[in-house]
Amino acid sequence: MNLSTNLRQTAQTTPDVTALLYLDQKISYRELNADVDRFAAGLAARGIGKGSKVALLLGNSPDFVIAYYAIVRLGGVAVPVNPLYTPGEIQFILADCGIEAVIAVGQMAPLAPMVLKMLPTCKNVILVGADLEMEGVSTFEAVLNTGGEVPTVDATPDDIAVILYTSGTTGHPKGALLSHRNLCSNANSVGDFLNMSEKDLVVAVLPMFHVFCMTVCLNAPLYRGATILVMPRFSPTETAKAIQFHQATMFAGVPTMFNFLLQHPEVVKEDLSSLKLAISGGAAMPVAVLEGFEKKFDVIVSEGYGLSEASPVVTFNPLDRPRKAGTIGVVIPCVEARVVDEMGNDVEPGVVGELICRGDNVMIGYLNRPEETALALRDGWLYTGDMATIDTEGYFSIVDRKKDMIIVGGFNVYPREVEEVLFHHPNVREAAVVGVPDANYGEKVRAYVALKQEGSTEEELIEHCQAALTAYKVPKEVIVLEELPKNTTGKILRRELRKHESNTVS
Ligand code: AMP
Repeated sequence: MNLSTNLRQTAQTTPDVTALLYLDQKISYRELNADVDRFAAGLAARGIGKGSKVALLLGNSPDFVIAYYAIVRLGGVAVPVNPLYTPGEIQFILADCGIEAVIAVGQMAPLAPMVLKMLPTCKNVILVGADLEMEGVSTFEAVLNTGGEVPTVDATPDDIAVILYTSGTTGHPKGALLSHRNLCSNANSVGDFLNMSEKDLVVAVLPMFHVFCMTVCLNAPLYRGATILVMPRFSPTETAKAIQFHQATMFAGVPTMFNFLLQHPEVVKEDLSSLKLAISGGAAMPVAVLEGFEKKFDVIVSEGYGLSEASPVVTFNPLDRPRKAGTIGVVIPCVEARVVDEMGNDVEPGVVGELICRGDNVMIGYLNRPEETALALRDGWLYTGDMATIDTEGYFSIVDRKKDMIIVGGFNVYPREVEEVLFHHPNVREAAVVGVPDANYGEKVRAYVALKQEGSTEEELIEHCQAALTAYKVPKEVIVLEELPKNTTGKILRRELRKHESNTVS
């Protein structure tokens, strides 16, 4: 049970099937597996081996797939990070996990000297499409062409394969530790549930650094010998054109993507007619969008649910039984889920409780955070922090998030992180950030602040956030109040803030 063994097996059984389609490149399973071996040998020659943590700061490309599978083939640990994060955000993650090498897009070249200097554990920076004459820096090509053998690794299914940085109520994201067993189990269950086979062509347009894409559009298809259409970015017309041109059979997206495809006047039924299934996940799918999409394109949409800590898929709407719009469906094979009250007892159908789940897909814990691990994993169950109901037929519905994470177009925003930036403004006394509904992105970030003295404008505060945060984390609105509502212990009442009616035109 090593993730990359699955690729090796597929390369033996169907070597000539196309594994990856990217721009005008076609890479067969044989070629992909050989490139993974070559890249693994190059990494090994640079000291990467069992347990080495290697960051992937790459967009969707064959390079991402080759590097990711090479790291895990060596028994190393892949740490995928959004390459659009600010240097401060990236530095936090790299330092938190003690990164040993970074594989990054060429645009990051100017940061390479700083990474090598500030992170003593990091000995190698590998750049895609850029070069830098400096010790410790190599190009992707140079690693690929190093030569040598892939060392045999003494790995167990419980070795960590991936660390995913995910939500936290503690301000900064924390690293969910996912083992080979976790990821293989979920990829296998997803492949089974969706009946994926070598006849399928799966669109990978969600970011590969996110677990939804990693399992549903990468690990599962590579397991099943399907073809992956690798798309570097989402645009409704480009995506629709690619689906039509390549006759893709499966599309996975966040609800925002479905909405963009549905609303775009140039995307027509014929564009998506090859799809046999579209999967929505990552955030709640509005029923109107789901039904509108199914009607306009005559494509089955299955909404699912998952979270990084569960590798990620917990439920999907079934394909052999009725789908229920507005629900997240039923548990997939090898996963159990329940809805429980505060005492951990199952609630009656229709009653709201916390969704908990158990299975080989559930993470080992959070890196170096025993208290948060103990809160999330209790008696073998993962407490998801999502409030849900279950009906008499076993379909789950998500009611609300217990935690305060905001999801903007499928990307997570952690309120505390934005609040900390606002607190750094010299005139901000109090700050609280909440998510409010947004027609395009599902949610948007709204900040409430109390000032030390009058004078700071909304524009000035937004500009202040722009300097420190990735665009989607920047508040779209900043509302100034005299005082923020608090409970008796002084904790700001986000619930009250969410109810606050904005006077700002959005
Ligand atoms: P992440 O760990 O980044 O995958 O985010 C996981 C969170 O996304 C979950 O805990 C849920 O709050 C939310 N989520 C995922 N899928 C759905 C869905 N279908 N409906 C509502 N919320 C969802």
